[in-house]
Amino acid sequence: MTDILILGAGLTGLSTALLLSRDGHRVTVVDRDPPPPPPGREWDEWQRPGVTQFRQAHFMLPFWHAQMRADLPEVLDRLAAAGARRISFAALLPPPVFDGGRPCDDRFDTLTARRPVLEAAFAAEAAHLDVRRGTAVAGLIARAGRVAGVRLADGAAMSADLVVDCMGRRSPLRAWLVAAGFPAPAQERDDAGFVYYGRHFEGAMPAVNAPLLQHHDSVSILTLPADNDTWSVGFVASTRDHALRALRDPECWAAALACYPTAAHWADGKPLTGVDVMAGLADQWRTVTTPGVVAVGDSACCTNPSLGRGAGIGLLHARTLRDYLRAPDGDFAARTAAVIEPLYRATYWFDHHRIAEIDADVAGVPYRPADPAWFGARALYGAALHDPEAARVNLAAGLLLQPPPPPLSPPPPTAPGPPGPRYPLAGPDRNALLAALSPPKVVGAGSSLFPTFPAPRFPTVEA
Ligand SMILES: Cc1cc2nc3c(=O)[nH]c(=O)nc-3n(C[C@H](O)[C@H](O)[C@H](O)COP(=O)(O)OP(=O)(O)OC[C@H]3O[C@@H](n4cnc5c(N)ncnc54)[C@H](O)[C@@H]3O)c2cc1C
Repeated sequence: MTDILILGAGLTGLSTALLLSRDGHRVTVVDRDPPPPPPGREWDEWQRPGVTQFRQAHFMLPFWHAQMRADLPEVLDRLAAAGARRISFAALLPPPVFDGGRPCDDRFDTLTARRPVLEAAFAAEAAHLDVRRGTAVAGLIARAGRVAGVRLADGAAMSADLVVDCMGRRSPLRAWLVAAGFPAPAQERDDAGFVYYGRHFEGAMPAVNAPLLQHHDSVSILTLPADNDTWSVGFVASTRDHALRALRDPECWAAALACYPTAAHWADGKPLTGVDVMAGLADQWRTVTTPGVVAVGDSACCTNPSLGRGAGIGLLHARTLRDYLRAPDGDFAARTAAVIEPLYRATYWFDHHRIAEIDADVAGVPYRPADPAWFGARALYGAALHDPEAARVNLAAGLLLQPPPPPLSPPPPTAPGPPGPRYPLAGPDRNALLAALSPPKVVGAGSSLFPTFPAPRFPTVEA
């Protein structure tokens, strides 16, 4: 049995705490933020300044769901009871693409909810653990060449056999290690360059008539079902796209969304928020090798969130730590590199290409990297809209249900390659989008150059 101190009670911190305590470790969790309010009031009342994205759109992938079903099914039960929504990505496919279903389609099932509802379910399941909220950590205690505990902001000290950093993408661990006299962990960091303009709604759940992540000229759009007849809709744009900063204004946001036939109806509900803007997101990989401390989840590895992989990767990392502590051979950094790094590289590869493509759209030039894999991915996205087998290959790859390809590194952005296929979903070109943002608002149905999906529908799977 080991005394383990987990810093951070977010999704990864609590997953780690539940997994390690079930293995017999003595676990304490500290978090700077206050505890959740009574059930049902999380969305309105829970103050979580420690998690900047707390009220941003979240969607839990089948990759996360399958791991939860294997190791933390009780949390899924709590989520279901709290009104989380069951989704089958296969059943969301248009009828000719669903094609009567396939034997393994249930691997595309998941359960999802707004972030505060998700976290509250974890917090309820962890209620029997020693979770100290309102307790900010301020630094590390070093002893005999290893991390032996932490200093709290109120001056108190806590010691542990192992400190687990789950303080998220803005974790100060690196600076704290240096301040305590250890070498700085190796770190790769790249500004992802994306900005999110998102809103939450409630009402009658909109029909799903296109992929939940829709790619268009110079923007992507996320349409994400959530718990209790709520959902979120967000534009994903480039931070360098000054013209689209108008999307901060709810009127402009609505006028822009109305241009996209496969997304416009997602605004047909009661808005729960104005437009929440989030930028400054980095793709970041840290290698922590100091004895006595490990980093798990976003603090070790985070990417731009368009693909919705953060919680699933964080959970896999927590399970990797649990397995490592059961049979610790080699160091945890090496285990992390073997299990988590391929997922990070594959996600970074996508982010890097997509933001370069968006920036090229904004500049009005074609994006032609010398990387055939990017054109392959785009062609697959297009084929998945009408071909049943391509749709399943695309889903399995995007949802991390198959191993990612060998580490991919982004190609030099200036190297010319062949022109790729356009994204086929209906929507305005750049000029029409900009026109919609300037008064008088243009709210037409967009260009008719592109095919549209067949009849909208919203099937879900029940347990
Ligand atoms: C805009 C956006 C949208 C996203 N959408 C999705 C999505 O759809 N699907 C998905 O899977 N992932 C999504 N993610 C990623 C997901 O939010 C993260 O992967 C996940 O929150 C990581 O959890 P974590 O526990 O590692 O870190 P966090 O959730 O960031 O938790 C860190 C915790 O550490 C605490 N803390 C920080 N500093 C201290 C300190 N000094 N002392 C004590 N406590 C401290 C904080 O209070 C917090 O509770 C999104 C991220 C962003 C930014």
